[in-house]
Amino acid sequence: MPASSTLFPQSRIDVLTAQIRSTTGESRTTTSPFTGEPLAVVPVSSLDDVDAAFDAARAAQVRWSRTAVRQRAKALLKLHDLVLERQDELLDLIQLESGKSRRHAFDEIAHLALTARYYGRRLRRQLRPDGRPGVIPLLTDITVHHVPKGVVGIISPWNYPLTMAVADGLPAIAAGNAVVQKPDSQSPLTALAGLELLRDAGFPADLWQVVSGAGSVVGTALVQQADYICFTGSTATGTGIAKLAAERLIGYSLELGGKNPMIVLPGADVEKAAAGAVNACFSSAGQLCVSIERLYVHDTLYDAFRAAFVRRVDALSLGASLDWDVEIGSLVSPAQLETVTKHVADAVANGATVLVGGEARPEIGPYFFEPTVLEGVTDAAECFAGETFGPLVSLYRYSQVEEVVELANAGEYGLNASIYGPVRQAKAIATRIKAGTVNINEGFGATFGSIDAPMGGMRTSGTGRRQGDEGLYRYTETQSVGVQRLLPVSGPAFVKPQLYARLMTFALRLMRRTPRA
Ligand code: NAD
Repeated sequence: MPASSTLFPQSRIDVLTAQIRSTTGESRTTTSPFTGEPLAVVPVSSLDDVDAAFDAARAAQVRWSRTAVRQRAKALLKLHDLVLERQDELLDLIQLESGKSRRHAFDEIAHLALTARYYGRRLRRQLRPDGRPGVIPLLTDITVHHVPKGVVGIISPWNYPLTMAVADGLPAIAAGNAVVQKPDSQSPLTALAGLELLRDAGFPADLWQVVSGAGSVVGTALVQQADYICFTGSTATGTGIAKLAAERLIGYSLELGGKNPMIVLPGADVEKAAAGAVNACFSSAGQLCVSIERLYVHDTLYDAFRAAFVRRVDALSLGASLDWDVEIGSLVSPAQLETVTKHVADAVANGATVLVGGEARPEIGPYFFEPTVLEGVTDAAECFAGETFGPLVSLYRYSQVEEVVELANAGEYGLNASIYGPVRQAKAIATRIKAGTVNINEGFGATFGSIDAPMGGMRTSGTGRRQGDEGLYRYTETQSVGVQRLLPVSGPAFVKPQLYARLMTFALRLMRRTPRA
């Protein structure tokens, strides 16, 4: 590989990119959002490389599925330790590839460690064969197993380049599958550093394959060969993937876009809600699927909240730096910058007012944009219902709690929601919100960070759940093994059918009266 980077050691780039399955001799150069400068020259995979990745993964999966669950759990816990130990380089990579600030990059380290620990500790219980009541008590034994699907395809985005690349795959390999992964073309190094960690933690070398290339080519090839597909990205791409998966009748989980609301209830602590909203709206410069883009504040608190929120947003520091003190980083690309700029201009043209922010900051870095708060956004504006996926939030006033539930549920998405205010009142409306996660007195971290809590979207925000039991079982086939003793279920040969039917009728009525199903 030719030397390309002044931002990250070339020797490490060479080690990381050597893990990509590629025989094409072709490459593409990635750039860092902080500077727009080249970051790495990354090999591109061909469709033959994808085939080879699946062949190797399939062979590895057969061996891996026979390993003791204890051994897999041990590797997961080792991975937990390695992520924390090697966090400095991982943080550098996450920042250099995504442009986010170091404090927001750390969320990925924590999320990956939490995920590894959760499955490392829970796996034996989750995969333990489960005895169930059989059709004829005492004579029929049923055991339910969770068997791996085979090779799982993972297509991941750039915005959380470590945790979206690796954390979703952990339950897949934990369940005995292999993985073929295609990271986003913007963020391959971080995904490859994740792969290195997996191998160092004790997972077999061929178990997890990384291929690289355009989503429409290499991503499609993954969907055409995988036994299950886990996709995180936009609703538009996810819809296309669902169609392809349906043709092959393979299962899929889709973690897609959102237009997530926050509700500030009467009685909320205004300062706490404003501080929470800053984090909820501007983590990763708003390039976070669960980020809040709509803020509904009760009449009685609106003015105080607006003042507190605007003051805090105005004070946020932006920077293209690997230091911990910067609060907000860059957008990832010219395309993201264009969307945010367009959404602000369009909202203003349709009657909105910029309360704070609203400008690009090229003197900091080529794709920086100020954290921006709008008021008076009308339904004619693109950002009223459409996802911006950037540091842009609209502030709305409401007067009735009933009304705000409807407002929060408007639109096509249903990923995440947040409610600030008295817990009892917040809980009373939480389950009426159409969102896969609802966080009370927190923006998204309460559910996202709690790995036992399943997470995913309702409506066009996706299907399937990551995290928790659901996040593991999606990668398994549930298989029931039944053992019949002494007599066949259809009755012994010497009993005439009519007599058998009578006996069964009597037995069924009797069993209906027994306390257990
Ligand atoms: P995207 O859909 O453009 O790309 C995501 C991944 O899909 C990339 O790896 C890309 O190369 C690949 N891809 C693109 N076209 C493909 C195709 N035709 N076939 C197969 N793969 C293809 O998404 P993006 O714009 O990079 O990411 C931002 C979006 O992701 C936002 O909408 C955001 O809300 C969403 N997101 C959702 C979650 C979640 O958990 N729900 C998390 C992160 C991001």
